[in-house]
Amino acid sequence: TWDVVPLAPPDSIFKLTAAYQADTFPQKINLGVGAYRDDDSKPWVLPVVKKASYILLSDPTLNHEYLPITGLPEFVSAAARLILGHDSPAIADDRVVSVQTISGTGANHLGALFLSRYYPFNGDKVVYLSDPTWVNHFAIFENVGIKQRLYPYYDPKTIGLDFDGFIATLRSAPERSVFLLHACAHNPTGVDPTVEQWKTIAGVFLAKKHYAFFDSAYQGFASGDLDRDATAVRYFVSNGVPLLVCQSFAKNAGLYGERVGALHIIVPNKETAGRVRSQLSVLQRSEISNPPSYGARVVALILKNPELFEEWKADIRTMAGRIIDMRKQLHGVLTKELRTPGNWDHIINQIGMFSFTGVSTTQSKALVEEAHVYMTANGRISMAGLNSKNLRYFAEALDRVVRT
Ligand code: PMP
Repeated sequence: TWDVVPLAPPDSIFKLTAAYQADTFPQKINLGVGAYRDDDSKPWVLPVVKKASYILLSDPTLNHEYLPITGLPEFVSAAARLILGHDSPAIADDRVVSVQTISGTGANHLGALFLSRYYPFNGDKVVYLSDPTWVNHFAIFENVGIKQRLYPYYDPKTIGLDFDGFIATLRSAPERSVFLLHACAHNPTGVDPTVEQWKTIAGVFLAKKHYAFFDSAYQGFASGDLDRDATAVRYFVSNGVPLLVCQSFAKNAGLYGERVGALHIIVPNKETAGRVRSQLSVLQRSEISNPPSYGARVVALILKNPELFEEWKADIRTMAGRIIDMRKQLHGVLTKELRTPGNWDHIINQIGMFSFTGVSTTQSKALVEEAHVYMTANGRISMAGLNSKNLRYFAEALDRVVRT
């Protein structure tokens, strides 16, 4: 019966993790997976999440009933305020449709599915993705019958943003095209537009009536400040660019496995919101019936309790601060001590969990095979995988491959 099923290749990141785990070399380093690690390379349960969990579990009224189809109401409304801002004009006008999803991946999927069904595409169903982007974007849109096209984003020559190429594609794309934008801390490059550049981008969206499909998986991770990392999304909303936002709490709350996220679709008015919400409920019902409750309860508690919210912000600063510190230290060792050939300023200029080092496929292969430093072939490293104990080993290994 299943003879027609071809063997699919393993997921490259998870394959890399398996190879890392099987490696017995004591100084091995995992820079592949995008999950925060503390200075001892250990997963970090945020203290505020521990506290919120204790509060939840000691509540005698807590039960395991189904959540509503669109999720825990206090979670989705607080999550919308977190990304859109407490003073968001769209929230005030009751024209934000928020649905709890299976983390950011689920939000991307539900958003893509909804667009596939209802977006008035100008011709073929197409989404423009940044070159490069999170690899799963391709599969997510493919699954719902939306073709993918790339827009210029990363410029290997400057190891920075190809702003002109990006703007030129926005201008030349047919009106009402859908562009996926990383809200902050672009994965995999760590290269974000500046605030001024975002304003220009928003201007072209308005002029061309494009649709912005925002993916926000790292709010807080870019700058350590939740509000600052929402600047682009809020600017687009306040200027009336049609958009949706996919929101994940995997990274900023360290709730990877709990699958906490939301999809927010900003629509022109309350009446439209009612219709859009009804159709999202229909789609959600057929796919997952109701989203999981535990992580949503944890996040809702943190977002709604001012004391816990302050503690969360401090935890986020701890994570973002350690990553920024690793950037500075790596830059310092490469440029001042080892005098590694080339310019390494992108290490400190890039933002968020990842850095696109600029090393070639051959060099990253050498790092994996000869130095036991596990990283993706595109030269991306997770800064969170570095710490005070392994940074020098990594810098020296990088220095070696660059020189050979
Ligand atoms: N979007 C981007 C750009 C990501 O990097 C990730 C996490 N790797 C996600 C979405 C979704 O992650 P999750 O489903 O764990 O929230």
